Amino acid sequence: MSHQTKSDYESLLKRLRGQLNNTTRKEASRLEIPSPQIIWIGQRTIFRNFMEFPKALRRDPEKLLLYLNKELASAGYIAGERVIFLGRKEPSSFGTLIDRYVKEYVICSVCGSPDTRTEKNKKLGFLLCEACGARSSIKGNYA
Ligand SMILES: [Zn+2]
Repeated sequence: MSHQTKSDYESLLKRLRGQLNNTTRKEASRLEIPSPQIIWIGQRTIFRNFMEFPKALRRDPEKLLLYLNKELASAGYIAGERVIFLGRKEPSSFGTLIDRYVKEYVICSVCGSPDTRTEKNKKLGFLLCEACGARSSIKGNYA
């Protein structure tokens, strides 16, 4: 009986360890991306929680804004936590653009980790992965 109990205990332990490992791996590569809050006031589009994004993605707000302005063909500017764009921009386009930005300038293309930082070398931009050490080139000056 005691033998039975011991092996049950061991298999339980093994299962728990497995779960623990899975959890740890998920935690490490999870990226919490907020939902963009977009409202129209007159002929302007207000990105109300813009500043949450550079914080969550660990990127320069000016660079992220540069990207949005390029994609939206606009000249939005930062006002406190918000960005104000002239003209009525489609609210749903912001989520799409942020997703695209994350794929191109935040997520490591080798291992999929969001734990990356950027580096400039002779005017070329690189994405450095803190998880796997990969170094990949990135386009433009948006990160
Ligand atoms: Zn990586």
